[in-house]
Amino acid sequence: MDSSRWVAIQDKETMKTLVIHEMRKQFFNAPLENYILTFDDALYSQYYYWTLIKKIKAPKIFFVATNLIGHGEKREQFSEEHKEFPSCYESLASYRDTGNKENYMRLSELKEMVNEGAILGAHGHNHTKFFDGNLFAQTNKARADIEDMVNWFSRNFKFVPNEFAFPHYEEHWFLKIMLKDYGFKKFHGGERIEIEKEEDILPFL
Ligand SMILES: [Zn+2]
Repeated sequence: MDSSRWVAIQDKETMKTLVIHEMRKQFFNAPLENYILTFDDALYSQYYYWTLIKKIKAPKIFFVATNLIGHGEKREQFSEEHKEFPSCYESLASYRDTGNKENYMRLSELKEMVNEGAILGAHGHNHTKFFDGNLFAQTNKARADIEDMVNWFSRNFKFVPNEFAFPHYEEHWFLKIMLKDYGFKKFHGGERIEIEKEEDILPFL
């Protein structure tokens, strides 16, 4: 069943929202179906475990930092073998230092997931910690990042998501105002619970 159907079945108002970065084997022992699941950064581990993630009966939104997405053939997915992946911090540092995108999904992989019910959300183009300089410089950089992100979605998916998760959970009022201009309607900041910090899940992890 595609995940949008579960949104209708479950009482979305009372459900807490979890945020997951790198996917871990032990997360599958937790009662994930009791939450709205959000996945940040489009890390490869999320694609690797997609065959398991897609079976979870909960909404699943993937917040993509569009410039981190690579190209090429689809890679290996879970086939009974659990793997460990670098943390989101290590992946971002490696990308920043060397341009390495291998810890992130490829476009071909992300498209497969969307075809199979993954909901797309936006997470900036460069995953920038917004932003340096005076307010004028900050808003210019933010607008350029949003435009690159919106163009990427239009080019590759023929639509633009309407949900946005702030990189590093940093909510900026000017960024929010601009995003609304581009049709974004729902914003996610620090109100989401990192899976590692959710009390009700800890006994299972
Ligand atoms: Zn992020």
